[in-house]
Amino acid sequence: MHQGLISIVADDGRIEDYTILMSLLKPHSIRANCAIVSDWVGQPGYMDISQICDLTSLGWEMLSHSKTHSAPLHTLSSDRLYDEIVVSKQALGDMGITTNNFCYPWGGRNFAAKRLISKHYNCAIRVGGGPNSFYYDRFAVNRCVMDNVDINNKERIDFCKKQILTLVDKPLWIVYMVHPAESLKSKDIANGISNLLEYIADCGIPIVTISEAIDIIAKRRTLNNLIDLRVLQARTNELVKDAIVAAIPKGSIRHIQQQIKHMTMMKRYK
Ligand SMILES: [Zn+2]
Repeated sequence: MHQGLISIVADDGRIEDYTILMSLLKPHSIRANCAIVSDWVGQPGYMDISQICDLTSLGWEMLSHSKTHSAPLHTLSSDRLYDEIVVSKQALGDMGITTNNFCYPWGGRNFAAKRLISKHYNCAIRVGGGPNSFYYDRFAVNRCVMDNVDINNKERIDFCKKQILTLVDKPLWIVYMVHPAESLKSKDIANGISNLLEYIADCGIPIVTISEAIDIIAKRRTLNNLIDLRVLQARTNELVKDAIVAAIPKGSIRHIQQQIKHMTMMKRYK
């Protein structure tokens, strides 16, 4: 009930997502998310449509990571914003790649960008920040860095493990960033990530896609609200019981009714 969640987002649609990250995650049956720049699909060093579709068929989620990745969104005119946010989604859709969430190129954003994104996507991921609470800003989701976890850097590994351990009994959502994916070519970093994945599995923390996380968090929040309602109901029942007990010595039903009314009013102003 209070357990947290983890997601992994690899930026830019690099070929290493397909050639390295997939083989790191597959043994653990983990699905990640790739943030794809629509103009870069099929370019040298980047995944092509069929590779992206292979990952999608494994249950990976694709996010839009803009059309050109040329500048942070807060520096762009409204026409350019439209291209980066809306045209990128259309272009990816034309390639058969569905995107429901966005990932800010360079992390930059402003109100205009957030507002346009909110009309076309369910959430947007930024760069930096720590774990997200379950009452997070849907259009500025924090990310923690995962691509600098060198197996020889004990301090860094210990820090990540400590953070993961908090998710055992705290409703927090860690979104890890793998960027640049080229760093995965280092065996020490790949081993560091594998080490963390094993630790996450030992702790029993689910690793889910961005869309799955949004759904799970929304359901948990609804459940929490329901539980609050049940608590309120139980308190009211207790109140009614107290009123009856207090009114009985005085005898009449009318008196009991008045007592309940009085106690409910008192409770309301407490
Ligand atoms: Zn990027």
